[in-house]
Amino acid sequence: MQAVTLLGSTGSIGVSTLNVLAQHPEKYRVYALTANRSVDSLFEQCQQFEPEIAVMLDESSALQLEKKIKAKGLNTQVLFGAEALVQVAESQHTDYVMAAIVGAAGLLPTLAAARAGKHILLANKEALVMSGGLFMREVEENGATLLPVDSEHNAIWQCLPVADQQQHHFQGKGVRRIILTASGGPFRDYDLADLEHVTPEQAVAHPNWSMGQKISVDSATMMNKGLEVIEAHWLFGLPTEQIDVLLHRQSIIHSMVDYVDGSVLAQMGNPDMRTPIANALAWPNRIDSGVAPLDLVAVGRLDFSVADHQHFPCLALAYQALEAGGTSTAILNAANEIAVEAFLKSQIKFTQIPQIIEQALEKVPASRGDTLEEVLADDLHARKVAEELLK
Ligand code: NAD
Ligand code: MG
Repeated sequence: MQAVTLLGSTGSIGVSTLNVLAQHPEKYRVYALTANRSVDSLFEQCQQFEPEIAVMLDESSALQLEKKIKAKGLNTQVLFGAEALVQVAESQHTDYVMAAIVGAAGLLPTLAAARAGKHILLANKEALVMSGGLFMREVEENGATLLPVDSEHNAIWQCLPVADQQQHHFQGKGVRRIILTASGGPFRDYDLADLEHVTPEQAVAHPNWSMGQKISVDSATMMNKGLEVIEAHWLFGLPTEQIDVLLHRQSIIHSMVDYVDGSVLAQMGNPDMRTPIANALAWPNRIDSGVAPLDLVAVGRLDFSVADHQHFPCLALAYQALEAGGTSTAILNAANEIAVEAFLKSQIKFTQIPQIIEQALEKVPASRGDTLEEVLADDLHARKVAEELLK
């Protein structure tokens, strides 16, 4: 029986993970569940999964949750705050840590799981985007097992030899390039001029996937794919020129590996995150995920086209930041978080998101990013500059 900590259990990935775990009660038990402020959702999850610990980031939410838990007579202990997130991620009582907190807030607990040598189911992209070198070093030095959950990275992972999957270095190993597929989001067929007037409601309505708000906007700008290029660089040890992006509107092929002998291996499936979650959980074996079998006749056709950097300037910015190295990708990420939040509150236009990121990258000097302090300082600096730019 494996014990699982779920960081961000009330979010889109958290809920899908619990759905998979509930299908295999003989294999997995929930050790800890965590959320930001969603008291009612976390309380419901506590009733169903009876974790040893439930953590809320927010103190007053934790008090409300504790009251409900006591009234129900449940045995779950309630904690609060960022330190408690770290505590349940590194605890000796857990084997697997699902990193599904959205944004930079996920970095510290995910890093703690790496330092404690856990099996990390990595959905959160920020640990690698902000501090890839540092994070991979902690994984390696502490014998942690890194299992990619982001559907593209999980697809690539499945197309690599099982024996090599924990090496994270594929340059010169017969891999010509990896190809990340992208649906192109809700605005892929819009003219550039029309993008100026799109609303937050339109941006979060993804054509193929159901996801949290932040990543949905990132999918519309294709910053999500940019962050995934950076994530792939660290997970697979490949330079930018060996990481391509291809538009594929049906989201059936989740990514591919192009080998030097001309073989291209692709992983396919219905767009449902329970597949990569189940794959990462059971690795190197397979378990049921609850996802319907793929019906290729019903899909009918698979289309591909170029991911145009002019149409998707955020994708170009992500490649540039990765090339620049050091904390440039942390600066990119921080400015993007501020810009997306402002767009969701209708404070800026959709087309201003890349403008704010580009200016933040120009204004904030990047450092080498060898230490967590450096990364967090540049992250904070970029947030301040982006906030200024909003004005
Ligand atoms: P979401 O917004 O649906 O859920 C986020 C979760 O994190 C919630 O449980 C929330 O309570 C918690 N949370 C939010 N802010 C927090 C904070 N400051 N401190 C502690 N907890 C906090 O997000 P999601 O769509 O499930 O995405 C989670 C992560 O997985 C993101 O990094 C995203 O990029 C990545 N991801 C998501 C998908 C997807 O299909 N949703 C796919 C690939 C990768
Ligand atoms: Mg993805």
